[in-house]
Amino acid sequence: MKVLNLAKQALLAASLCSAALQPANAQTTTPAPAPASGGPVDAASMQDLVLANRVLTDLNVIDGFGHVSMRHPANPNRYLMGRSVAPALVVADDILEYDLDSNPVDARGRASFLERFIHGEIYRARPDVMAIVHTHSPGVIPFSVSSVPLRPVFHLGAFLSPGVPVFEIRDSAGQSNMLVSNPALGKALATTLGESNVALMRGHGSVVVAATLPMAVFRAHYSNVNAQLQTQAMSLGGPVTYMEPEESKKTLGVIDQIHGRAWDLWKRAALEKMPGK
Ligand SMILES: [Zn+2]
Repeated sequence: MKVLNLAKQALLAASLCSAALQPANAQTTTPAPAPASGGPVDAASMQDLVLANRVLTDLNVIDGFGHVSMRHPANPNRYLMGRSVAPALVVADDILEYDLDSNPVDARGRASFLERFIHGEIYRARPDVMAIVHTHSPGVIPFSVSSVPLRPVFHLGAFLSPGVPVFEIRDSAGQSNMLVSNPALGKALATTLGESNVALMRGHGSVVVAATLPMAVFRAHYSNVNAQLQTQAMSLGGPVTYMEPEESKKTLGVIDQIHGRAWDLWKRAALEKMPGK
């Protein structure tokens, strides 16, 4: 009997989980008519987006959750992102195109991420942003729930300057399920992000933006690394010496030029593991 009860509990838990993860069409409102496509996407861009999903998983920046998107290379009013599936499993067929209201162009039964509004609203607010990563990176979470700001402690974290704002979802949604699952919350998050490269989401994770996909991947990874290093430095006791804004600015000028070296390495490793390579 005990075994039976346990089995029932497991079934109940599984159904609750799947309900919580129901994609978006998970929609509670009538879906808008599908927007027109922004045009074909070149194969290299598509492959990079697929690989970015896998690289971020390999780097433990995202796992079964989290997502990465890029602005459509030919139409700034569209963006591209995987369907609602674990990023490590994404292939080209899983990439969906969205308008900036986060309506899919041609879903063909493929489910969307509940939190896709993070991407649409940031692309709308920040014309300079070409790629976005949303993470639940363990390293950054403590800084989203404490009064200690995340600050650059080493040169590869220079993009964290001049500051990393924290999005408090309670200010917009009160007691919520913590998910940025509608346009208003996406807009509120974009407002908190402002002109920064990274915003933390209280008790949830982070959002990282950049002018290229490789740079967004780089920043998502090194946000997590910087957060871990800052935690270690603080645990040693005594004052911590952070990078000055001027140092960060000068460092960023160099790192932004050479970050492609890391991307090439990570991409090759991910490519090696692709099925049917
Ligand atoms: Zn999330």
